[in-house]
Amino acid sequence: MPDRLVIAIDGPSGSGKSSTAKGVASALGLAYLDTGAMYRAVTCAYLDAGVAPDDESGVIAATTAAVLEISTDAANQWVRVNGADVTLRIREPAISANVSAVSTVTECRADLVSRQRAIIDAAGSGIVAEGRDITTVVAPDADVRLLLTADPEARMARRKAELGEKIDEVQLADQILRRDSDDSKLVNFTTAADGVTHLDSTFLNLEETIGAVLDLVRRTVG
Ligand code: C5P
Repeated sequence: MPDRLVIAIDGPSGSGKSSTAKGVASALGLAYLDTGAMYRAVTCAYLDAGVAPDDESGVIAATTAAVLEISTDAANQWVRVNGADVTLRIREPAISANVSAVSTVTECRADLVSRQRAIIDAAGSGIVAEGRDITTVVAPDADVRLLLTADPEARMARRKAELGEKIDEVQLADQILRRDSDDSKLVNFTTAADGVTHLDSTFLNLEETIGAVLDLVRRTVG
């Protein structure tokens, strides 16, 4: 294994990329970056500032002004925006429903991508970073690059199991299918770019998926 290892994982909602990335980071003793949590945290910031989702310049201003702090410890995840802890709030349906107002705006993406690169550069022994554009935009030179997908039915079932009674079918479809379609406007995360390995986890459980990624890491970097 090299002294420093950067692993980039992309995939749609419910593909299992967060749990997989955390498991891989823990197994290899690496830091972990959930870039989706950063998009979600700035969503809290613009909503708290009273900015409407369709007010693009307001969303850009709230994004670039946001003071964002995020844990890179896979075993202890937290995120703060403008001094407020939003670790639990970023998972609420109201945030999932409004996050596209940030992720579909080029200026917001540029701001978050540069923050993400700084966090990756600062991770001494390396990091597992996951999102939608990590293999292609944020860290295209990562040592290992992976696109993790699963069929829409499997992704909806996983998200439902995670959220339990708190979500109805309409919210579930909004969280998975509508968000995928919005997210794919600026970023392609459905086909693997050159040099990116595609892993379909539809018929794999979490342990098997983590195992497959660890095998890929060993094959790629020894
Ligand atoms: O991964 P998660 O579902 O938490 O991401 C929340 C949202 O953040 C996504 O729906 C997408 O709009 C945005 N996102 C993104 N690029 C990333 C990570 C997340 O556009 N690298």
